Amino acid sequence: MPDPLSDLRDHLAPVEDLKAAAAVLAWDQETYMPDGGAEARAQQLSTLQSMAHERFASDETGTLLDRAADAVETDDPLDDDAALVRVTRRDYDRAARVPSSLVAELSAATSRAKQAWKQARTEDDFSLFAPHLETLVDLSVEKAEAIGYDDEPYDALLEEFEPGLSTAEVASTFEALREDLVPLVDAIADAPQLDDEVLRRSYPQPKQKAFGERVLDDLGYDFDRGRQDVSAHPFTTSFSPGDVRITTRYDESYLPSAFFSMIHEGGHALYEQGIDPGLARTPLADGASLGVHESQARLWENHVGRSRPFWRHYFPKLQDTFPEALDDVGLDTFYRAVNRVEPSLIRVEADEVTYNLHVMLRFELERGLIDGSVAVNDLPTLWNEAMDDSLGVVPDTDADGVLQDVHWSMGSFGYFPTYTLGTLTAAQLMEAIEDDVPGLHDRIADGQFGPLLDWLRTRVHRHGQKLEAPDLLARVTGEALSAEPWLRYANDKFGALYDLT
Ligand code: ZN
Repeated sequence: MPDPLSDLRDHLAPVEDLKAAAAVLAWDQETYMPDGGAEARAQQLSTLQSMAHERFASDETGTLLDRAADAVETDDPLDDDAALVRVTRRDYDRAARVPSSLVAELSAATSRAKQAWKQARTEDDFSLFAPHLETLVDLSVEKAEAIGYDDEPYDALLEEFEPGLSTAEVASTFEALREDLVPLVDAIADAPQLDDEVLRRSYPQPKQKAFGERVLDDLGYDFDRGRQDVSAHPFTTSFSPGDVRITTRYDESYLPSAFFSMIHEGGHALYEQGIDPGLARTPLADGASLGVHESQARLWENHVGRSRPFWRHYFPKLQDTFPEALDDVGLDTFYRAVNRVEPSLIRVEADEVTYNLHVMLRFELERGLIDGSVAVNDLPTLWNEAMDDSLGVVPDTDADGVLQDVHWSMGSFGYFPTYTLGTLTAAQLMEAIEDDVPGLHDRIADGQFGPLLDWLRTRVHRHGQKLEAPDLLARVTGEALSAEPWLRYANDKFGALYDLT
């Protein structure tokens, strides 16, 4: 007897295999590949990605989807079959609407733009990148028009990373955030600064690695289904729920660099390792959205890893690991040091409070690029004005300003807001967890992370991509996305740290 759902699964599995194979090649490219491999690797990646795209966007997928949809007998959003059909339909319709000529044009323009961006950054010359960025904006608007949208073209681009969320919803949430965030940043700036000198002592790399991996193991990261390597920029990549890898980079004279990036990537990896293995080789074996993915990273990095209970447990162990650096340091001094807030130029180095201002600035500029209200040539000036307005610092060079991030050179418009959506989602989840898990912070101070991980596994991780972010959040917290929980968290934590009234 023909089973339309098995037929659909059998058809989609090789798409996931091709994507996973491409991910292995991309991981190797960032970790172990010699420079000489670059040109061939780019071709290999492009071949695998276009094979995956062709198979997924084929008419056959459409036919199999129609048959499978008729065979689904429930509208339970968590039912595997119903979710498979719903999510595949959403992604398929989106892929099928973009003409393959436009896909090819975007891919070619992106590789040229990335080269130009690298050169522009090295030479600190925005004009080398500007014409490429203009092309990418034009092509992205074309793509948005092909996909369709409710209010503005940016909706169609955002949807790729945050299905179910509109630009207007993001903008109003960010507005609410800004209203209370700016006074907090101002109050911190007026308070006596916290000293982080203890973090800038000598921390040999092998010990950083051993300590960090011990913590990752304690948190629940399964090294039998993952590994950690070194790359220029830390990332997490999943080839299957049984092989989820993370990378980091070390700075021997600045402890937080590797440690917090390990916890951050570890949070992403715990999500991927927690997806129901039954969803493997389907489009469901992925995070609900980039924002939800980021929420898992930030929850472990900030709400756990930068909390006082966490360091009550780990600081004596850290002191044992680095006696020369930390023998004369107390827990409070260390806890304050890892939570120092200071407006700075570079997003990826920003503290957890000012980070959001970097993100909102990018969101507003790229929304303007896509709706035509911002011209590419005005970006450097607008960037510096916005930095001055929101953070009170202005970069001396465009390399440290408008050229610092890779995202626009990859044509990724709509990606930036997911970082702050992740921050807000993490705080919202954390309030729900505090309600559900009695004595959560005491458990953390005892080094018991199981209750927290179990909560996340049951309510978030195992579902993979079955629920869109707004549905997941509503189901788990009973509320829509809001800036309030994060503002409560930040005002409490940094109010106490900086002695604000
Ligand atoms: Zn992340």
